[in-house]
Amino acid sequence: MAPTERPIVFLHQIERQYRQGDATVDVLKGAELAVWSGQMVALIAPSGAGKSTLLHIAGLLEHQDAGEVYIDDVPTSHLTDTERTRIRRNEVGFVYQAHHLLGEFSALENVMLPQMIRGMTRNEARERAAELLSYLGLKERLVHRPAELSGGEQQRVAIARAVANAPRILLADEPTGNLDPHTSEHVFRALTQLVRASRLAAVIATHNLDIAARMDRRVTLKDGRVIELQ
Ligand code: ADP
Ligand code: MG
Repeated sequence: MAPTERPIVFLHQIERQYRQGDATVDVLKGAELAVWSGQMVALIAPSGAGKSTLLHIAGLLEHQDAGEVYIDDVPTSHLTDTERTRIRRNEVGFVYQAHHLLGEFSALENVMLPQMIRGMTRNEARERAAELLSYLGLKERLVHRPAELSGGEQQRVAIARAVANAPRILLADEPTGNLDPHTSEHVFRALTQLVRASRLAAVIATHNLDIAARMDRRVTLKDGRVIELQ
């Protein structure tokens, strides 16, 4: 990372509160986070600390109440929904704890779909999907449906789908949360491989401290702020 390089994602003074009945919960209170290209940041914090909220705001899935999200230096809070959707579709890949693959489609088709939605031809989409899945060790699983895949394989397909449109940002919300340690390791390696190869800026919420220890940075959320850990 050259010191002069600008972060791909920059969360500045982010505030977010939720209404819960008569009460308001201040989840984020001036959260700051900058992530550079090629960098993997582990987000480790207890349940309820605001990890998912932070990831959703960073990925423009949810609006902050105050503060600004810069994607590649562009402030996003005043963009139209159409413009936010365009940035999200082109620049952001999401991976969740549950794979959310479409059950009636093959692994290949699941990875083709986001590309076709973006306007790629069927052939182009198929070629890239096959390449990505093979890269993640799923060459023999292209025509399998999610139900015919193991948990780790399903999650690797979900990762391939998240990066199908060559985003610059990868946001993962406890991606190995449902997996056993051995499978988690496999899935984490797949994630790392992609982040390094494509120079993605990645934020990965996880409770797995072994995995967190191998990322470039570790941060936590305390009282609504982001704190850098060693
Ligand atoms: P984490 O992912 O770290 O477990 P979340 O970001 O999901 O935390 O939630 C942080 C806090 O905000 C929790 O107290 C949760 O109950 C609350 N919260 C999250 N989403 C909503 C919502 N849509 N409405 C009300 N409260 C919410
Ligand atoms: Mg969460």
